[in-house]
Amino acid sequence: MLSTLHTNDAPTTIPRLADMDIPAFLIAFTANIIVAQRLVRKICAYCKQEYPLDKSATAELSRLLDAKKLLTLYGAAGIKLEPGEKSLETLRFFRGAGCSRCKSSGYKGRVGIYEVLEIDKELTALINSRASADEIKKYAEEKQGMITMFQDGLVKAKQGVTTIEEVLRATRD
Ligand SMILES: [Zn+2]
Repeated sequence: MLSTLHTNDAPTTIPRLADMDIPAFLIAFTANIIVAQRLVRKICAYCKQEYPLDKSATAELSRLLDAKKLLTLYGAAGIKLEPGEKSLETLRFFRGAGCSRCKSSGYKGRVGIYEVLEIDKELTALINSRASADEIKKYAEEKQGMITMFQDGLVKAKQGVTTIEEVLRATRD
């Protein structure tokens, strides 16, 4: 059975279910996987261009994660970087310049960015001990290696599917 809840991310789903008076053991026993999704606009294929981020985008990104982490993420995702791409300022991203096909918006269509939380044995124990969303998130990221929606968005931005601006907008709480 699939069910939908509106939460900020996958880990927050668990305390949300508990708030709905669903006993912790039942959540742990019945939930297998929690997928969180947000939609971002896709870059128009007809006017896509490469560009380096501007100062405000690099400043916002650097507040959210450091360049080293981002480069590690891209390495893990199998993204090939140019020799010069070593910092937020030098990484190349994509955007739509705007054309008649996208009514000058630079975007055409939408795509999901996702995070997948698996309810494994350790997480079951955490749920049963009434762990907070932050504790669950920490476990998911550090022990399960969960790719967060934000990180999935950053990968899709580097692949030219969407823009950094869209990812920042969609994941801003
Ligand atoms: Zn276009």
